[in-house]
Amino acid sequence: MIVASGNHEFCWSWRRHWWWRRCRRGYFYYYCAAFGGHDPESPPEVREAHRLRTLLNEKIYLRRLFNLTLREIFYRDCDAESAGEPGAAGRRAAARFEREFQAMLLDMYGSDHARPRLIELLKPGGSASELAARLRARIAAVGAALENGDWPELVAMSPERRRWMESPLFVQIGELRCAAAPLLAFTAPGGELRIIEGCGASHPEGEFAALLHKFHAFNVWRRPPERVRTFTLDLGSGRLTGHGDALDVSAGLRKITADCAEMTALIRSDGTVDEQDFACSDGAGCADCRFRSICRR
Ligand code: SF4
Repeated sequence: MIVASGNHEFCWSWRRHWWWRRCRRGYFYYYCAAFGGHDPESPPEVREAHRLRTLLNEKIYLRRLFNLTLREIFYRDCDAESAGEPGAAGRRAAARFEREFQAMLLDMYGSDHARPRLIELLKPGGSASELAARLRARIAAVGAALENGDWPELVAMSPERRRWMESPLFVQIGELRCAAAPLLAFTAPGGELRIIEGCGASHPEGEFAALLHKFHAFNVWRRPPERVRTFTLDLGSGRLTGHGDALDVSAGLRKITADCAEMTALIRSDGTVDEQDFACSDGAGCADCRFRSICRR
């Protein structure tokens, strides 16, 4: 399969880095072959790559569910007066899950790829009711962890301390275009800007997010990097963890630049990318790979 690479603007992100390190062929399907496949009129192989790209596993679905719910509550982007009451995050996430799960059951193979769809529902022999029960239990556990963790303090914060941030957030660093996924931001007592990267982000993801947050805050608000701190919110414990306190900005930038150079080196001189140029992994992750059905390894 050969596709034009120049149709979309190149943008480094942690997810792109993750796919690049995991499997180059998977990276090709995710970032090149699926491009444009949101359109029902796109060629069938593009449409199918896009369908597979947009499937969510349980862990990513939970992250997405709580990201949306907590952002709604924190920025009061919801009509309910009770959004900030104790337990509201878990209740609202549970209600959203029930709506989304019913929609998934009605449209399992997804004519609208923008809707969330769980990979697990498509696995042969899987039970939808067992999956739903498992997710309900996980959502309840996250809701309880949030209530017993740092969330009540965040949600009780006065509105004037809350700082709106787009998510995804595109950050320009010289020639590099990068993306982070902030959950929310606020001004701490003393004036420090604190940005929480999306729910459940891993430690290395948090370190790269810290780098991007500092650049963004400087680009947009001329805020010195030492006055910007990054956190992630752990869905298991409900606790915030700080990142980037010993950040080596130069080293981080070198890694991102090296990543981008490797990725763009596979664009051919005529502006196309060819599946054959993207090496398959050693096979260790193939059994769980979303692209297994289309992979020509
Ligand atoms: S099936 Fe294996 S080789 Fe193919 S994209 Fe997935 S991980 Fe890579």
